[in-house]
Amino acid sequence: NADTAMYHAKALGRANFQFYAEELNRAALERIELERKLRKALEQDQFELWYQPQFSAADGTLTGVEALIRWRHPVDGLISPARFIPLAEETGLIVELGNWVLHTACQQTRQWREQGLPAIRMSINLSTRQLRSAQLGDKVAAALAASGLPARLLELEITESAVMERPQEAVGVLIGLKALGVSIAIDDFGTGYSSLSYLKLFPLDHLKIDRSFVSDIEHDPNDAAIVTAAVSLAHNLGLSVIAEGVETAVQLTRLRELGCDEMQGYYFSPPVPAADAAELLRLSARCRAKAGARVECNL
Ligand code: C2E
Ligand code: MG
Ligand code: MG
Ligand code: MG
Repeated sequence: NADTAMYHAKALGRANFQFYAEELNRAALERIELERKLRKALEQDQFELWYQPQFSAADGTLTGVEALIRWRHPVDGLISPARFIPLAEETGLIVELGNWVLHTACQQTRQWREQGLPAIRMSINLSTRQLRSAQLGDKVAAALAASGLPARLLELEITESAVMERPQEAVGVLIGLKALGVSIAIDDFGTGYSSLSYLKLFPLDHLKIDRSFVSDIEHDPNDAAIVTAAVSLAHNLGLSVIAEGVETAVQLTRLRELGCDEMQGYYFSPPVPAADAAELLRLSARCRAKAGARVECNL
């Protein structure tokens, strides 16, 4: 009868609730544990920056490197940013971690300079949370001053979704950063929802086309159409275009035909530790000296 049915429904509801609560509890505990490990990792200096080179589409010269963080856990080994950046972002730890990235990347360029290596552009990734933190401009200025890196050689990468979350606020922040003389790239372009009218208000230098449009560009005419549109938009706004995730020679050729200005991807090199990046810089300098700036260097 109805009473029994109700009784069962309630019992079932309770059981479901209990199950749900246990799940939540477990997830919360895992999060707390990871957060604790992250804090400890910062204290114990377990983070490393790896560097991925970027190349000119026109002549193959090395134009810059992007710094990408890795966590070298004493037991778990090398951990990719996808596994800890989101939590660092949620907990606010990213502000401290991001500042470490900023300083370490700038200091690295100083070391390379002292080793007689050519000065190239250093790009770092900024998270949404960092973009909103009040002292960002001061921190960038401090890192530049401490390392002697010329401001124009520091590039800040901000994802399309981060700037578009609160575009009005972002315009002001980016204008402030730009005033320091740094350059600004919009990262993962095409994966968020850009308001094109805002795009023209941002003081941008580079637009990075997300690798999801690159991976199948030989076969998917829609991807080629999107890249074509993005390149045209970027060039009309005076920005230069970097294609991300270039893995094959065919992709390189196609992206070059479509007007991309620079390339980054496994076809050239994965992100590598600082010592290997220094070797790339050394090779590229030698290559340039030998061949002049016009000839493609196959690193
Ligand atoms: P991202 O900034 O878009 O960086 C590009 C990612 O694509 C890197 O992954 C890089 O290793 C990978 N990649 C490069 N070339 C290729 C390719 O040819 N094929 C494929 N399949 N992948 C390629 P990674 O290093 O795992 O970083 C993932 C994301 O984590 C970054 O995406 C960025 O959003 C974030 N991240 C990394 N380092 C930092 C950091 O220092 N601070 C912040 N806030 N975020 C970071
Ligand atoms: Mg990036
Ligand atoms: Mg990207
Ligand atoms: Mg990404």
